[in-house]
Order: sequence, then structure tokens, then C-alpha cells
Amino acid sequence: MPELPENETQRLTLERECLNRTIEAVELGENVSYIELPGDNERARLVGRQFTETRRHGKNIFAGSKTGPWMTVHLGMTGSLVPFDAPDDPPDHTKLLIRFEGDRRLAFRCPRKLGHVRVIDDPDDYIAQQGFGPDALDIGKDAFVQAFGKTRSAIKAALMKQERMAGIGNLWSDETLFQCGINPQARASDLGDAKLAEIHGTMRDVLKAVVRAGAQYGELPEDWLIRHRKKGAECRRCGGEITSAKVGGRTAYFCDKHQK
Ligand SMILES: [Zn+2]
Repeated sequence: MPELPENETQRLTLERECLNRTIEAVELGENVSYIELPGDNERARLVGRQFTETRRHGKNIFAGSKTGPWMTVHLGMTGSLVPFDAPDDPPDHTKLLIRFEGDRRLAFRCPRKLGHVRVIDDPDDYIAQQGFGPDALDIGKDAFVQAFGKTRSAIKAALMKQERMAGIGNLWSDETLFQCGINPQARASDLGDAKLAEIHGTMRDVLKAVVRAGAQYGELPEDWLIRHRKKGAECRRCGGEITSAKVGGRTAYFCDKHQK
């Protein structure tokens, strides 16, 4: 599932390709019965407008303007935003298509239908209503240590809980804990302030590096877990073996030797 850095990469694409162009139409794609998309009236609100700015909070992308309305996109498991130019055809699994003036188009692709697109008035109100915690790249060290020091669940599950902190999912919680040498099943409240501060710093470094790499995992360092995230693979840090376990309903990958 796309997490903070994948969504940030998509936001940057939107910012580069789709700003300051008048929207002429917003159309539904095919096979859209089981996906949440804006209805006729909501789509009509976007027509005649331009996106003049973008934002991101956790795994949510926003495009809109000072006076609104805004479009918010959640990519779900497999969604993506694909800008292209007519007369090229939209990609397969396009669920929503925005026609800008001229040839520019923006497709929301979503093969597994778990994403959504909504039209909203204001991103800050929306973030508050949805109950998302602070974005993982915005939360400061002290706030992080305080929030996680109180939680008795497994650290991996705690990192993925969007109401506590938004943006981290399965991949980047595993990577962060791998680089800190912490077992994903360790109870957050048992780690202590120094370890939690280290997790905060490593998490930021990981997220920023993935954004810099444009979420192209092959460009990330060879000794990262993501490059060998497979049961039985050799740990490039200590020679241990990568193993897996269910934590917080997801499959965690970690090294059985250096992650205590
Ligand atoms: Zn190891």
C-alpha cells in the first residue's frame, strides 16, 4: 500500500503536471460500482476551477485552491494518479478522469478499488474530521516520544495507527525498526525515551530518502531491508536471517539476530 513517500511522490507529480489548468470535465471511468468516487454534483463543483496548490497529509493527497473546493485522493492498495495528454487513451482501470483545458488529462487508476476520491471544502477540516494524527514528517521528536511512550501495543502496530501519526504503513515501519535494531513486536511503552527518539530520527531519514529516490526502491541502499524483504534472505547488516511474523494484522519482516 502506498505510504507517505509514495504519496508524496504522487503529490509532486500532480504539482508538476496539473496545476493552473482549468478543469473542463470530471468523468467516471468504467466498472466503478464498488469504489467511492464523487457524485455528479460533487464532480460538477470542480468544473471551471483550477488546482493552484497541492498538499499531503499522511496517505492523503489534496489538490485545490485557496477558496476551494478540493479533491482528496486516497490510493488504497494499488491506486495511482497518472497525468497524460490526449489523444493518448487513459490507462486501464481508470476510475476517474479529469479533462483540463487543452490536451492535459489526469487519470485516477485503481485496479483493486480500495482507494477513494472525495470533493471537500477544506483540507484542515477534513484532516480533523477524519481523526488523523500528525503527519509522520511533521511530528517533532518530543511529541513523538510522548505519543509512543504511552502506548502498550507493539511498536510496529503503533507506528501504523493513522490516528496516532499519519503516513506510515507496513513497509516503512519494518524498514525503520530494522535500521534501529528493534523487534517489531516490542511493546512501545517498554522502549524508553532514548530508543523512541532514535526511531523518530530514523523514520524521518527513511521517509526522506524514499521521497528523494522518487519511491524507486531499486535506488535505495543495498543494506536496507526493502532490498531483501523476503523470508530466509540474508540480513546485510549482521548476516542473520530475515523472518516474518504477524504484528497488528500485517506481516512484519525483520532480522532474527540484530532486532531485539
Ligand atoms: Zn540483522
